[in-house]
Parts: sequence; structure tokens; C-alpha cells
Amino acid sequence: LYVDHPLGVGQSVPLNRDQAHYLFGVMRLGAGDVLSLINSRDGEWDAVVEKAGNKGGVLACQAQTRPLQTPPDLWLVFAPIRKERTAFIVEKAVELGAARIIPVQTAFTQAANRIRQDKLQAHAVEASEQCGGTFVPPVDDLAKLDRLLADWPKDRQLMFCDEAAIGAPVRLPAIPGPWAILIGPEGGFSPAERDKLRALPFAHAVSLGPRILRADTAAVAALTLWQQALGD
Ligand code: SAM
Repeated sequence: LYVDHPLGVGQSVPLNRDQAHYLFGVMRLGAGDVLSLINSRDGEWDAVVEKAGNKGGVLACQAQTRPLQTPPDLWLVFAPIRKERTAFIVEKAVELGAARIIPVQTAFTQAANRIRQDKLQAHAVEASEQCGGTFVPPVDDLAKLDRLLADWPKDRQLMFCDEAAIGAPVRLPAIPGPWAILIGPEGGFSPAERDKLRALPFAHAVSLGPRILRADTAAVAALTLWQQALGD
């Protein structure tokens, strides 16, 4: 279970209504039962149920079972697409080891694809629990692409997945350090965005192969290729 609370020996962890419903209603746990907790900071801990109620409860941390395993410093920046496909992108980004997930609004991002940050963060928590991770990447609120690029940390490289680079081989310069992947919306990047991106010193335009991939497929392919080339 993911909790937003410090974990440590003897630490009490209060549960909110949703967590209590999940543990005691859905999972049928009760006082004395032991479960695993993560919080993205302190690794994985065994905790025992001290109090179980309908509206809340209390767990007590016992012992650390695994240290925190943080992924490489890789951000996924992507334009949201249809709701269930955006959820898919977040889920796969967690499984494939993104350290931060940033939805961006680009010129051709459909207004109908506006995101609910809390829902996407919940998908990230579920995905991390499912794949046995001890870290849940933060999911940002929707940012504007221009604003994000204006404030870009200059030491972070950007793998700009550019469908116009189609046909050229996938080439990722072997620059160590922090990176980010950028995936456009269904309509792709506007000519102005593409010109701007191609002129940025930290952006590297790459092809994901000879066919145009759907944005969700492109995100999975790019994460996999980056991990293969530069991940640890
Ligand atoms: N509508 C665009 C077009 O027809 O040119 C295609 C956009 S594609 C569905 C969505 C995003 O996936 C693109 O903006 C790009 O970031 C990425 N993408 C898809 N296929 C790609 C490829 N072969 N190489 C690089 N990026 C690709």
C-alpha cells in the first residue's frame, strides 16, 4: 500500500477513509494482519494493523523489507490523449522506470483531453504497487510546453521524438546525466514547435522507426529505447 507518511521502526501510520475501505473492506484485513507499505522515500516496510475501522485505521511499522529503489533520472513529458490512453501512458511509464511524469499542453493538444492530475497520480501508485516498486514517480499538473521549455534545466537532455525524423535511424547521443523524453499529441507537433525544439541546444530529435506510432505506443517505445541505451 502506498502512504504519504514517514515509515520507520515503530512509526504509526494513520489511514484515511479510502485506504481503510480498501484494506478492511476489499482486502478483508483485520487487526494483527501484516501488509507492505511504501511511500517513495523510505523503501518498503512491513506494518501490522493496530486499529481497523470503516472510516480509518492505524498501522504500526515493523521492519524494512526492501530499500528504496529509485529509477534513473528520466522524465516523461507527453501531450495527453484520450483518457484511457493517457492512463495507459502513465501506467507504462511507471513500469518502464520514469522518475517524473509531466503532461504538457502543445499547440495540437485537444482541449477534451484535459487531465485530472489526482487520477493520473492514483494510476501511478497502482502501477508501482502492481510491479513491486518502492518508488512512485510524481505526476505534474498539466504544463504549457512553451513554459516548460523556458524553465528547462540546462543540464537535462531532451529526447525529442519527432515523427518528421521518420526514416532516419534511432540515434540517441550517449550523454550521461539527467534526461527527458518528449512525445507529441495525436496531431503531432506544430511546425513552429518543431522548429523551436530543433533549435534548442539540449534537444535531440530522434526517430522511433519508419512508421508513425500512436502516441501511447511511441511513449512505450521511447522509454524502452532510452532505458536500453542509457538506463542503469
Ligand atoms: N499526426 C502526426 C503525423 O501524422 O505526422 C503523428 C503524431 S504521432 C501519432 C504522436 C507522437 O508520437 C509524435 O508527436 C511523436 O512524438 C511520436 N512518434 C510517433 N511515431 C514516431 C516516430 N516514428 N518517430 C518519432 N516519434 C514518433
